[in-house]
Amino acid sequence: MRTFLSLLLQLVILAAPAFSQTTNAIDGFTAQRAVDQRRWEEQFRAVPAPKSAREHLRRLTLEPHIAGTKEDYATAVYVRDQLRSYGIAAELKEYSVWLNYPNTPTVLELITNKRQKLSTVEAVVAGDPTSSNPKITPLFNGYSASGDVTAPVVYANYGLPNDYEDLKKAGVDGKGKIVIVRYGNSFRGVKAKVAQDHGAVGCIIYSDPADDGYMQGDVYPKGPWRPVASGQRGSVQYLFDYPGDPLTPGRPAIDGVERLKPEEATDLTRIPVQPIAYDVARTIIAPLKGPVRPRGFQGGLPFAYHAGGTDDVKVRLKTDMDYKLRPIWDVVARIDGSTEPNRWVVLGNHRDAWVFGAVDPNSGTSAMLEVGRGLGDLLKRGWKPRRTIVLCSWDAEEYGLIGSTEWAEELAGELKEKAVAYLNLDAAVSGVHFGASSVPSLWKLMRAVTRDVKDPKTGKSVYQAWQDRTQELRSEEERATGGEARIAPLGSGSDYTPFLQHLGIASTDMSFGGDYGVYHSAYDSFYWMDHFGDPGFFYHVAAAQIWGTMALRLADADGLSFDYTDYANEIREFFRETVRIAGRRNLASAFDEKEMNEAVDDFAKEAERMEKARLDAVKSGDREKLARINDALMNAERQFIDQRGLRGRAWYKHQIYAPGIYTGYAAQPLTDFRQALDERNGANAKEGLGRIVEAVKRATATLKQGRD
Ligand SMILES: [Zn+2]
Repeated sequence: MRTFLSLLLQLVILAAPAFSQTTNAIDGFTAQRAVDQRRWEEQFRAVPAPKSAREHLRRLTLEPHIAGTKEDYATAVYVRDQLRSYGIAAELKEYSVWLNYPNTPTVLELITNKRQKLSTVEAVVAGDPTSSNPKITPLFNGYSASGDVTAPVVYANYGLPNDYEDLKKAGVDGKGKIVIVRYGNSFRGVKAKVAQDHGAVGCIIYSDPADDGYMQGDVYPKGPWRPVASGQRGSVQYLFDYPGDPLTPGRPAIDGVERLKPEEATDLTRIPVQPIAYDVARTIIAPLKGPVRPRGFQGGLPFAYHAGGTDDVKVRLKTDMDYKLRPIWDVVARIDGSTEPNRWVVLGNHRDAWVFGAVDPNSGTSAMLEVGRGLGDLLKRGWKPRRTIVLCSWDAEEYGLIGSTEWAEELAGELKEKAVAYLNLDAAVSGVHFGASSVPSLWKLMRAVTRDVKDPKTGKSVYQAWQDRTQELRSEEERATGGEARIAPLGSGSDYTPFLQHLGIASTDMSFGGDYGVYHSAYDSFYWMDHFGDPGFFYHVAAAQIWGTMALRLADADGLSFDYTDYANEIREFFRETVRIAGRRNLASAFDEKEMNEAVDDFAKEAERMEKARLDAVKSGDREKLARINDALMNAERQFIDQRGLRGRAWYKHQIYAPGIYTGYAAQPLTDFRQALDERNGANAKEGLGRIVEAVKRATATLKQGRD
């Protein structure tokens, strides 16, 4: 049935008329060059194909390939050799970083009036051939501490600060306890830190069926959702403090570099943390006593959740971690630019996976290889990019964005001077719904490119399908105003972080999403992708087409398609929203609203003048002028970097975008200003906003210089 259906889809796609353009004009290209560019882009988009995308994914997901293992190394060699076979120079780049694997599987016991051993492995699933692979790592958390603790259990909901406050009101606390918390609402590293801060001696994190299990739909292998004996692995590094190798913050993890002692690293938890499946969570939570919890604490297990904390329900948690400096391998491939080799367009995707990683991340790796194949085809036909294109396959992203961070730290000087943009792709395909996050300066480009790529399912453009869905999800009121498909702010949780938030390089991220319940489990496998995520592999092709077209536009444009008017408007919107929050907290008089409004107004005016100057320069083809304008457009983003860094976490330097301390992956725009308001600290709010104003003024001045 499935095979027939995908065959049918393929026929439909072959029979459909070529996706046609109404106009040849491309923003940032002279009329003459736009004609050539269209031709190259169409040529490029004709190359990625379902068959090869599927084969890449099959090869990449044959074995579990967690960072630092020989199976991981084999995937690096595969990616490097594929890219070389397309005629692109590619090299491995090795770093030596602090990683843990479980030495022995975690011991988990429930102690009531008897002792009961609980499972910390995932079950074999009939039908999925790789789910019985003996090399599947047991459930564990990257950067958990080793420990052997026995203590009463407290159920702490999502494990965020307000959950502990609620518990306290009910007379229960985490001190000396093992807390059990559910995934969701924030990054798991936040849960580990908040547990430790509240005196917990251990932390168990489980996947509630309400979140990604049976309450969402049929579970695997009948449907795409998490089955009962599945858990979510993942890192509990304090990513919001700094990502990358824990022992070399701000420095590359190479020979001769000074390393912290592990106990000096401030981004590591000191308590054992362990993920479990929901059948195991059921066994632990069901007997809990103490006060029954309110609605916001209840999940999808078939009983009322209680707070626990009593001595008659205890758990023993013993984690035994093997920590070592281990090698990891990025693959870096490069196509040198012809006229502007010192301007780089960088594409990146991570390759390491907790287990097989069919969605996360290797759907993106497959797309990257198809981008490489497409660019290789253009090279053979005589195309040369104006600027250099760099393709990066990162390692150890799962532990904490390590491969990308170490590379960005090692090449910091060069990247600051040369990088035009960084385009990220992580879990590229788990369904058919396009979504994107980006700095506002690249919104226009992202929308333009998605207008030129066909959505496989609907036959419309990806943009149209995306906008239609945005409209569906909007309220009636919002719908009436129409408007463009929304692009989210960049927080953290993938490899754009070192580029945007440490170095100030304009960045984007995107994916085709869907019903994806097997995140970080052994069932994120080729079989899952082939049956649920992307049967037919058409969306892998679409992802490659979008990604590659964006790279071609940025690499070849006469005048870079960067729009700072969108940036100014977005900052204004962030500020309005944050001022409202300040008002609610009686902090509106703590800072000077006027100064910021003026700075943003000036930025908006300058952005408009710059846009006009750019269009004029493109029209006249004045190379010297274009070079100055392009550099200003590239460097304006750098101005949002403040070398002093954010308060208490100096690695993060971007004044507009960073993850919040408690928001996990989600962005907390105008970060330090907002953080100070959350902490009700007027002096810090004033100082935080002052730095943002300075950054906005610097960006304005940079645009102005490029125009003069
Ligand atoms: Zn990933």
